Amino acid sequence: MEKRIRKELFERERDGLLRGMTSAVFLPGGKIRVGNHLFVNFSSNDYLGLASHSKIAEAAAMALKPVFGAGASRLMSGSSELHALLEEKVAAFKGKPAALVLNSGYQANVGVISALMGRDDVIFSDRLNHASMIDGIKLSGARLFRFRHNDAGHLAELLKEERKKYRCAMVVTETVFSMDGDIAPLREIAALKNENDFVLMVDEAHATGIFGRKGSGLVEELGLTDDVDIIMGTFSKALGSFGAYVAMGREMRDYLVNTCRSFIYSTSLPPSVIAANMAALDIVEKDPQRRKRLLGSAAYLREELASAGFAVKGASQIVPVIIGGNEAAVGLSDRLRARGYWTTPVRPPTVPEGEARIRISLSYDHGRDVLERFMGDLRGAWV
Ligand SMILES: *Cc1c(COP(=O)(O)O)cnc(C)c1O
Repeated sequence: MEKRIRKELFERERDGLLRGMTSAVFLPGGKIRVGNHLFVNFSSNDYLGLASHSKIAEAAAMALKPVFGAGASRLMSGSSELHALLEEKVAAFKGKPAALVLNSGYQANVGVISALMGRDDVIFSDRLNHASMIDGIKLSGARLFRFRHNDAGHLAELLKEERKKYRCAMVVTETVFSMDGDIAPLREIAALKNENDFVLMVDEAHATGIFGRKGSGLVEELGLTDDVDIIMGTFSKALGSFGAYVAMGREMRDYLVNTCRSFIYSTSLPPSVIAANMAALDIVEKDPQRRKRLLGSAAYLREELASAGFAVKGASQIVPVIIGGNEAAVGLSDRLRARGYWTTPVRPPTVPEGEARIRISLSYDHGRDVLERFMGDLRGAWV
């Protein structure tokens, strides 16, 4: 075992793929401090700047006493009135009959997919879906077919070929993809339900709080609430807090309460986190300016990058700058750090070979002045 570990670490380091953590202080205003240096933080998912919003901190503080921890799992004694209120609020926000709160997005995807699907079933998954979905699929034991990224035509072919050989079918996709900030062809995918019998599950981790009139996500924006059976999302990204949810029909919820192992066998979120999540939803519903400004900044940055000759992708608050080689991406990221920007290079296997990139994750707190300065510094760093 020791030998294997040493070899694996050595190979990762040699290939420029060794991952490590840096202790950092996450600051308000879209900034981060690492050691004695202050950086513009282009590497957080706190898209709306809500992680430091005073109303959310106050809501959490109100629910800190008399007991901090939830004390038990939901089915034992850890299900408070606050949990029920939050689930009602999420269901209304998403426009679905019911919702279930889970402890994290990872737990939600792993637990929900593996609870609903089994050996006789088939799952069609976008090739670039998040690891949590992949792990849920593996755990389910269902047969997996991966369709080409955002390619509803390829999905249609696979459905036609394979669907009938299995009992139940599920199609899973992110709505806004985390690495390229690009958007799933959800209308086309939903339309395939006319000819194929499947359950449609989407992951709105990066769309919640950003898209839609109410800010509930891409499903809302495209008017597909009734076509999508299971809408998963997190409180940990644009909502600035922690935890996750799935919104769906009432029977589906009852079924998950009885079968979803990551829900059943895990202590529920502390009341203060639940209260913070309620406050975050309130802010998203009442303050559309935050998401409007954020998407405006993203459009501006994409235009500037394109006119500077960079390959741009996507249409969201996540802006990838595709560099190519691993070392080139790491080098650029280092030079940007020297100029005061905290970006993380994203390398294979997270993205395809030869498409290493700098992923710029924008926040409401990054004003036009910050982006203008960044473009100047990027030109300087890119030589
Ligand atoms: C972050 C993320 C998750 C996991 O959510 P956590 O609450 O951080 O566990 C799931 N799916 C996608 C697409 C994500 O980006």
